[in-house]
Order: sequence, then C-alpha cells, then structure tokens
Amino acid sequence: MLSWYPDEAALGAALAYHRPAMDAADAWVEVQERLEGYCSVCQSRTAFQVNTGVMLGVHPSLREGLLCPDCGLVNRNRLLYDAIASTPLHDARRGLALEATTPLFVRLHARMPWLEGSEYFGPAHAPGEWVSFKEVLVQHQSITALGHADASLDLLVHNDVLEHVEDTAAALAECRRVLRAGGVCVFTMPFFPYREHTLRRGRQLADGSIEHIEPPEYHGDGLRSEGIYTFFHFGMDFLGMVRAAGFARVEVGMDFDVFRGYTTNNHRYGDEALMPPIVFRAWA
Ligand SMILES: [Zn+2]
Repeated sequence: MLSWYPDEAALGAALAYHRPAMDAADAWVEVQERLEGYCSVCQSRTAFQVNTGVMLGVHPSLREGLLCPDCGLVNRNRLLYDAIASTPLHDARRGLALEATTPLFVRLHARMPWLEGSEYFGPAHAPGEWVSFKEVLVQHQSITALGHADASLDLLVHNDVLEHVEDTAAALAECRRVLRAGGVCVFTMPFFPYREHTLRRGRQLADGSIEHIEPPEYHGDGLRSEGIYTFFHFGMDFLGMVRAAGFARVEVGMDFDVFRGYTTNNHRYGDEALMPPIVFRAWA
C-alpha cells in the first residue's frame, strides 16, 4: 500500500530505511523474464513482463517495465492509477486528465466517468479546442494554459508531463488555479530524491530552439514520433516548488511492493539517477 510522506525529512527517512530492500529486490527482479504478482488495475493475479525494451545501459528500466499483459499498464502507470483510486475524493464531480488516448486514461475513465481527458497538440491550438486525432475528436489542453475556470476542478491528473515544460512554476500555478479548495492534483514525473537540487538539462531560446546544457534526452510519446524534450531532472527541492505555487500541502507517496510490480527504475549508476516508485499529491 502507498505510504504518504508530508515533507522532505519524512521521505528521506523512509528512503534510508527501505533502500537496502529496494536494491536487493531490483537485482532479483531484473533477471526474471516474468514476475508473478497482482495488478492493482485489473484487480487480479497476473504475470508481469519485466523488460519492455527500455534500457538504462545494460539494465532494463523497471519503471517503464513490469507490464501487466491484461491492462497494458507498466509499473509507473499502475502506481499512478493506484494513487488516484486510493485518494479520498468525496463528492468529486469534475476532473481533468492531461491524457486521453492511453490505456491509463481508459481505466481511469471507467472508474470515474466524470473525468475528462485531453492531450497537448502544440501551441497553435486553443485551450479546450477539439482536435481530430486518429479519427477521434480529442480535447487540446496545455498544462500552462488550461481552458478551465478558476476553482472549477476536484481532480487533476498528469503523468510524466512536468519535465517537458520549461516553466515549472507557471505549470504548477496553473494546476493550482483550476482546483477547488480541497481539490487535488495527483501526478508523476521523473523524480530523483537523492538529488538535492533540480538539474536543468536545457533552456528554450527566443527563436524556439533549445540550448543544451546536458546531453539531450527525449521521452517516448504516443503523439510525436520524435519524442519530447526533457528540460529537468527534478530533485528534492521540487517539493518547495509545489508549496511556492500556493498548494495547501504536498504529499509524496511511495510504494515499494514487488508483488504489485512497484519497484525503482533500477538505475545502477549512482544514487542521483535512482527513481524510487513515487507519486505526488498536491492539495489545493
Ligand atoms: Zn493489469
């Protein structure tokens, strides 16, 4: 089950305690082809496919692995689903996910039919505009310019979006703006808790090009074949960024549970690249 930590010190203490078990389990999991376990989304026993072909050097990425063959969700997407499904959403009526064309959204929408889906189609589109995508109309939304009124949503969901946005503060402020008091933003992004300070990998120049500070990193994306550029590797100072955006509180959820297929990313090149199974809740 997810444990929710209220601040940096509580998360740091939990990581220090659980780390040896994480390392031992990851080393065992990565050499399995299939892993018998339980899928929180399917609510049934399954055999996870450990390696989905995303590699960290010679090691399989377990954050992008541990695929449930029944629902099609990998480790990090099932963890986010679990976090949303186990969050108390009393009388919630209106919510928005910043994805619409994914297996995760299909499962979330089946559970919460009031949840709207959306995708980002680029700067030429207006907030809320309906865009034809693969012969289906999908709503366009941007995390820095949502088409929703102030204090109009109970739930906002995003999934590995923030690292691709240059202005983190603007994105977090926009998420806060659309939430009602008591509403919650549940989200993931690559989070590196052993990194004290967030690493900026590049910056966008006035002409739209990108000045690279670190070697460019692109993440796979269902809409753009070239992938999306990654501006940041967020560190522990990210929690302060969420508080500065006006949220009442931020919680870090962690669930290292091999049976449910929740492990770290399995990065073996030093602590700073290790991503434990973590999800965020920011409460308005
Ligand atoms: Zn499943």
